[in-house]
Amino acid sequence: MERYSGFGLVKHGLRYHENWQRVWRNPEPKKEYDVIVVGGGGHGLATAYYLAREHGITNVAVIEKGWLGGGNTARNTTIVRSNYLWDESAALYEHSLKLWEGLSQELNYNVMFSQRGVMNLGHTLQDMRDIQRRVNANRLNGIDSEVIDPQQIKEIVPAMDCSANRRYPVLGASWQPRAGVARHDAVAWGFARGADSRGVDLLQQTAVTGIREKDGKVLGVETNRGFIGARTVGCVVAGNSGVLAGMAGLKLPIESHPLQALVSEPIKPVLDTVVMSNHVHGYISQSDKGDLVIGAGIDSYNGYGQRGSYPTIEHTLQAIVELFPSFSRVRMNRQWGGIVDTCPDACPILSATPIEGLFFNCGWGTGGFKATPGSGHVFAWTLAHGKAHPIAEPFSIDRFNTGALIDEHGAAGVAH
Ligand SMILES: Cc1cc2nc3c(=O)[nH]c(=O)nc-3n(C[C@H](O)[C@H](O)[C@H](O)COP(=O)(O)OP(=O)(O)OC[C@H]3O[C@@H](n4cnc5c(N)ncnc54)[C@H](O)[C@@H]3O)c2cc1C
Repeated sequence: MERYSGFGLVKHGLRYHENWQRVWRNPEPKKEYDVIVVGGGGHGLATAYYLAREHGITNVAVIEKGWLGGGNTARNTTIVRSNYLWDESAALYEHSLKLWEGLSQELNYNVMFSQRGVMNLGHTLQDMRDIQRRVNANRLNGIDSEVIDPQQIKEIVPAMDCSANRRYPVLGASWQPRAGVARHDAVAWGFARGADSRGVDLLQQTAVTGIREKDGKVLGVETNRGFIGARTVGCVVAGNSGVLAGMAGLKLPIESHPLQALVSEPIKPVLDTVVMSNHVHGYISQSDKGDLVIGAGIDSYNGYGQRGSYPTIEHTLQAIVELFPSFSRVRMNRQWGGIVDTCPDACPILSATPIEGLFFNCGWGTGGFKATPGSGHVFAWTLAHGKAHPIAEPFSIDRFNTGALIDEHGAAGVAH
C-alpha cells in the first residue's frame, strides 16, 4: 500500500497525478472466508480493519449491496461526542472518541477530525437540571464536560440569539470541548483502504439475500453472486438489520425510520463549533466548505426509502431560525435522508444471536457515526473471540429479556 504524505503529493504532482494506485482492489468472491461482515458502511469496514489489524484475521469479506459508505455513513451530519449519561454508553462512546483522536495517523488517511466542541442547549429549568445531571455523570466517568451560561455561549457563538426575550430563551448548555466533526466518507475510505491492504476482500454490488444455517450454526450467506461460506457472520447493516435478522428467522427490537439532513449554500465562516438543541429540535454546524450542515429529528413513520418528509424539514428550519435569526436568508442547497435503526432504549445492539456464529451490530439509530471506530474495534474483538468484548457486554440483545435497558433518550434525542 502506498503511504500518503506531503512529499508523495508533490511527487505525484510532478507526474501530473497519473500514477496514483487504486485505493482498494475489486476482487471476485472466494467460496469461503473465516469471517463475513455484511454491510460496507463505516462500522462494517472498521470491524474488518480491526479484525485484520488487531487479531490477524485476514481471510475476511465485507459484503456490500451498494457502494462502500453509501448508507448512513455518508449521509450523516458527522457529529462526534461521548457525553452520554450512563456508564455503559459513556464507556463505549469515550472508547470511540479516544480512537478518533489518533485515527488519521492510524489509518494514514486524513479523516479531517476537527475537535471544535459540541454544545447542547438548555431552554427550560428542567433542561438545565438534565444538563447538570449529565455533566456530573460525564465528569465522574472522566469525560470532559462542563455547564456553560448564556454569556459564555455568546462568546463561543456570537451569531446565536441568546437574548432573554426569545420564545425559548437559551438558559445554558453542556459543553464538550473534545467533541467535534469529521469527514464522513473519508472514514469509510480510510478503513476500507486499511482493511484491503491487509488482505480483506471488499465485495461491492453484492447483496446478501439469505443466511444459511444448519443445526443452529451459521454456514454462510446467499448473495446475488452465489453462496459464500463462513462460520462467523457479523451483520452491520443499520436500517436493514430487521431485514437481515428476518433472513435468519430472528426478530430484533429495532424500528427503521428515515432521518434527514440538509446543507445550505456555502457562506463565510460564521460558526466554528456544533450547536444542538433537543428542545427546539435542531442542530447545526458549518462545514469546511462553508455550508451550514443542519440535522433533523427522525420522521415518525417507519420506512426504507432514503428520503424524508417536508414537515420535518420545515420544523427543523424553524428551530434553526429560532436560534439564529440571521440564517433566515441563507438558501438551502441539498437535502437527503438515511434509514436509521432505532432501539427502544436508544442504545445499540452488539450481540451474539441464538444461531452460533451469527452476530449483529446495529441499533445505532441517529447517533452511530461517532461510534464508528469504537464499534468496529469492540465488534472485531467479539467476532474474533466468539463472545462479547467487555465494553459490548451490556449491549447484548439479552437486555430486552432481562430488563437491563440503558435508557439514553436524553443523550440521543435529536442530538446525534
Ligand atoms: C441524516 C443523518 C444524520 C446523522 N447524523 C449523525 C451524527 O451527526 N452523528 C452520529 O454519530 N451519527 C449520525 N447519524 C447516524 C449514523 O449515520 C449511523 O448510525 C452510522 O453511520 C451507521 O453506520 P453503519 O456502518 O452501521 O451503517 P451504514 O453506513 O448505513 O452501512 C450499512 C450498509 O449495509 C448495506 N446493506 C444493507 N443491507 C444489505 C444486504 N442485504 N447485503 C449487503 N449489504 C447490505 C447498506 O447498503 C449500507 O452500505 C446520522 C444518520 C443520518 C441518516
